[in-house]
Amino acid sequence: MATSIGALIAESAISPRETTMLLERILNTSRASISAHPERFLDAQQEHLARAWIQRRVGGEPMAYILGEREFYGVKLIVTPDVLIPRPETETLVEQALARLSKQYAPNAARVIDLGTGSGAIAISLAEQRPALDIVATDISAKALAVAKKNATKLGVHIAFIESDWFSQLANERFDLIVSNPPYVAHGDPHLSQGDLRYEPITALTDNAPNQQGLACIRRIIEDAPHHLNGEGWLLFEHGYDQALACRKLLAARGFVELMCEPDLAGIPRVSGGCWPAPGRI
Ligand code: GLN
Repeated sequence: MATSIGALIAESAISPRETTMLLERILNTSRASISAHPERFLDAQQEHLARAWIQRRVGGEPMAYILGEREFYGVKLIVTPDVLIPRPETETLVEQALARLSKQYAPNAARVIDLGTGSGAIAISLAEQRPALDIVATDISAKALAVAKKNATKLGVHIAFIESDWFSQLANERFDLIVSNPPYVAHGDPHLSQGDLRYEPITALTDNAPNQQGLACIRRIIEDAPHHLNGEGWLLFEHGYDQALACRKLLAARGFVELMCEPDLAGIPRVSGGCWPAPGRI
């Protein structure tokens, strides 16, 4: 006896919302159509896949990895367990970057680099919004870069991808804007073994450095950024909920000016940065 959409949602061990998301994908249809026709029957293959995906979700696997995609800044990105799942708070970083790009530069002229691009979320959003930007995106993980490249190709944006441990492969290249969502969860933070984070690449989440409060990568980026910024260029990065003050101090100590900190949509200080006053002052 075949199962209807409504029956599957009713008996599902995960929420109706998540079950519906899985069905949207399996049936290649909209949420509206699913709720309008709960009496529709699934064929054997669809039902088998739906039950298998529900089981994976019951086991704790993130929805984004089961579906193989996540929406970020209005575009659907391919995500695999090789990349961090893009999060809404990172959209704040994209917005801050776009705001500076319009203020500071003729939109065509700016060179931008996204360090540790993962799925490519930040670089691709900037490229989508400002197609004329000259954008470089790096990651230390070749597997992550492969996902980012697929996303760039799928969305038809041009980005130069470089496999690099932060700035190490960038010689003397300079940029007008450096953006990054680096790993900033502190070594041993209990959240690393909870929820979705258990399934994400550990190197995308934490510096794994004891006694650094999760700031090891942020320190390194702040230290090296002036060697790669044009005069009046900006460094903007995402950080943890309790790291804003420490980041401000690090930026000030390195000589950045116009220090800024922007809260995410939940009101948590999330994006910090500063302007590098002039070239040659390093
Ligand atoms: N915002 C993520 C989290 O706490 C961490 C991402 C990161 O380290 N850049 O779940």
